[in-house]
Amino acid sequence: MLTCDSCNQPIKNTDSDGEFQQLCDPCESLVERTEPLRIAQIKKEDLELILAWRSNPRIYDHFREQNSPLDWENHVSWYESREADRHDFMIHYDSRRVGVVSITETDEISIYLGDFSVHGNRIATAALNWICDRFKHRTPLIAEVHEQNTASIRLFEGCGFQQYARDGEWIEYRYS
Ligand SMILES: [Zn+2]
Repeated sequence: MLTCDSCNQPIKNTDSDGEFQQLCDPCESLVERTEPLRIAQIKKEDLELILAWRSNPRIYDHFREQNSPLDWENHVSWYESREADRHDFMIHYDSRRVGVVSITETDEISIYLGDFSVHGNRIATAALNWICDRFKHRTPLIAEVHEQNTASIRLFEGCGFQQYARDGEWIEYRYS
């Protein structure tokens, strides 16, 4: 199967002009619109950086299932035992790794920027739009956001997610 040079997801091998494609359509349009932003599947070499990011309370405070720093062994075994339908992508900005956007096996989307120096809506918005586009065949996509996380609420609503349900302090969003 032919896969995209950037996100490593399957692509059809020709575009509408009949030309050979190396990037999938969502990655192609990401490059056109938001260079120097690029998306790549996470690799084993990314695990140390991801561990550092996800062990920062400023980041994991936003995760529903995590309330303490990660431990290395569990982190590696999480990486190695992910379901085939789950995909985690590193967001690269100007050749630096700045954050992660993911889709789980239950079509839940999550995103965080680990590099606070690039914080700003533009990168997160572009990465979120990208994953919605790349996985539109799996809609409705889901996201859970804490009601006090106004930055994420603005981000997801800005990308077309709509409030669907609530579970206590958590808002369930859907994108279809
Ligand atoms: Zn791609």
